[in-house]
Amino acid sequence: MDEESAAAKKLAAKIERKKAKFVTKRNGMAKKVDASILRKYDLLRDRRNGKAVVGVVKGVCQGCFMSIPPQHYNNIMKGDQMLNCPTCQRILFHDLATTEED
Ligand SMILES: [Zn+2]
Repeated sequence: MDEESAAAKKLAAKIERKKAKFVTKRNGMAKKVDASILRKYDLLRDRRNGKAVVGVVKGVCQGCFMSIPPQHYNNIMKGDQMLNCPTCQRILFHDLATTEED
């Protein structure tokens, strides 16, 4: 039993170290992102079960599965600005890989 709990503690420590490494890396990357965008992203991530950025496939938001209005979809396809889903507010990108799969 003692051996087992020692091994479990060791594993937990290993996972903690790994997690700390990821958090450090994430924070480093977050510093490069515009503060207002990061704030929006963090808010969305909290409210939408950890999914703040989703693809649009054939005019449908892959977060809430609602259709994106055609003009909005055209702007997303252009990819020159950050646009949100009008229904769930998630940040959208044109998911070309998934669109071309079927
Ligand atoms: Zn949506």
